[in-house]
Amino acid sequence: MENLQSRLFPDVETRRPLTIAGPCSAETEEQLIETARELAAAGFRIFRAGLWKPRTKPGGFEGVGAEGLAWLRRVKRETGMYTATEVANREHVTAALDGGVDLLWIGARTSANPFAVQEIADALQRYGSDTPVLIKNPVSPDLELWIGAIERLYNAGLRRLGAIHRGFTSVEKSVYRNLPLWSVPIELHRRLPQLPLFCDPSHIGGRRDAVAPLAQQAMNLGFDGLIVEAHCDPDAAWSDKAQQLTPRALAEICRRLVIRETVATTESLDSLRSEIDKLDDRLLDLLARRMHVAREIGRYKREHAMPVLQTARYEELLARRAAQAEELGMEGGFMRRVLQAVHEESVRQQMEVIDE
Ligand code: PEP
Ligand code: MN
Repeated sequence: MENLQSRLFPDVETRRPLTIAGPCSAETEEQLIETARELAAAGFRIFRAGLWKPRTKPGGFEGVGAEGLAWLRRVKRETGMYTATEVANREHVTAALDGGVDLLWIGARTSANPFAVQEIADALQRYGSDTPVLIKNPVSPDLELWIGAIERLYNAGLRRLGAIHRGFTSVEKSVYRNLPLWSVPIELHRRLPQLPLFCDPSHIGGRRDAVAPLAQQAMNLGFDGLIVEAHCDPDAAWSDKAQQLTPRALAEICRRLVIRETVATTESLDSLRSEIDKLDDRLLDLLARRMHVAREIGRYKREHAMPVLQTARYEELLARRAAQAEELGMEGGFMRRVLQAVHEESVRQQMEVIDE
């Protein structure tokens, strides 16, 4: 199987996952060097550290800025690791490239802003740089905006690109800091299959103990790499301390990841897949029949001057089917979403009949 991540750093060992590790922020030269030494000793090859920190609210630690570039050069000199940092505008791009940073990433608040992404793309193009750039998903689950950001960099001539899934802001309370909504990066992969895909379990989880299960899920879904926050003294970190791991704990998590690479299918998998195909055929047939009945109902309603929507019946139906689904081992919310989609098409079909 092709290792997509090998395009970013051809000389870094290409077994999945390619892992970028390091602190949320560069704080002091000592913190950076200590963390990097421990990570390098544990076998990590690419070091991350935020120099310019986009904070949701003012007043927090906003990063050490360009001063940290010399520290990153020292990390590289003393450990041999590649270095990576976040850029959010043209000054960051020029400073980071002049400062010898090997990989740049665009944060979730920046990738949500087409003007900022275009400014970064233009700065990279002017620089004539072929530095690898990873684009985090925008804070909202807007796949087109994410793809748009990737296209802006591609159009600027950059070819060593990758995407980072870091979860999505949500108003709902969740066990995660940012909702994983795996279907969004999966759809990104379907649309851009050649683009290496990284997962950032630190910013999805927001908690140290969430990193291992999220990283495993990403591996199960075929992600190429990980970007994870690690700090020599996580509890003393100046930003994102709840989610940072010691280099040793991170190494242990990576050691335990189960990587399934088999692509050849066996006969029993083929037969299970063909069973799924047959069931899908039946589902489609049943849906078509259901729509046919919906149209009959539409005709009846037209003849008796009844409105199409009768919301009381619909709510009761949804609740009943959600409960039934749960008894059958499915999520109630899943069944509600399915029925809502079916219902939308049903209403559309009835409206067509009424307009005939
Ligand atoms: C980060 O990587 O430290 C960061 C600020 O992440 P995000 O853009 O995903 O919030
Ligand atoms: Mn962080």
